[in-house]
Amino acid sequence: LLEARDVALSFGQTPALRGATLSAQPGEIVAIMGPSGSGKSTLLHCLAGILVPDQGEIWFDGQRIDTMNESRRSLLRRDRFGFVFQFGQLVPELTAEENVALPLLLGGVRRPAALRRARPWFERLGLAGLERRRSGELSGGQAQRVALARGLVAEPGVLFADEPTGALDTLTGEQVMDLLVSSAREQGTTVVVVTHEARVAAYADRQVVVRDGKVNALVTA
Ligand code: ATP
Ligand code: MG
Repeated sequence: LLEARDVALSFGQTPALRGATLSAQPGEIVAIMGPSGSGKSTLLHCLAGILVPDQGEIWFDGQRIDTMNESRRSLLRRDRFGFVFQFGQLVPELTAEENVALPLLLGGVRRPAALRRARPWFERLGLAGLERRRSGELSGGQAQRVALARGLVAEPGVLFADEPTGALDTLTGEQVMDLLVSSAREQGTTVVVVTHEARVAAYADRQVVVRDGKVNALVTA
């Protein structure tokens, strides 16, 4: 279980979150929607232990993570969480397969084993043949699928995705979301995905809306 309880966080004078509460059950896919500047990314960063809230609590798997020291939090992020961001953020000088293998290499898996585990993702995500391509030479949709593979390769408990389809056209975005959801379900990964596209949010089990730093359940007609 992943949970934010009544979380508040300000950047200087700017309140980004003001009493945000959200939980995700194991294996659940939760979409966070809401207007620009409403606090979606800030909430995601708090849940992922990247930002520490001023008030409230963050819980993951029975552990309170907002009160952990930074080194324990960074180990937790490395070992239990995966990340996908809007513009892939691949390392351009590395090949696609090296990018996918990166979380494993950082986790101490040796290079041959890490590359072996990265390889099946290429077939699975329709990227076969691109393993050795430098990631700076991939198209946007290809790069985002590589980023997705990198986010999931270590079989994280939670995948955090901030606008994973934001830089893609509608069709490519839906393909990436489809792959994200099916891969996460296959390995039982919980997903927290920020998006402002209703069609992307529709892939989730549950949708919530952040407005003025608070979370509301989305009531669908
Ligand atoms: P978008 O849809 O545009 O990505 P968002 O819902 O993700 O928006 P946040 O990035 O969470 O919004 O920002 C919430 C508020 O906090 C905004 O007013 C923003 O300007 C402010 N903010 C976010 N990050 C910082 C920062 N590092 N320093 C100062 N203010 C920040
Ligand atoms: Mg954002």
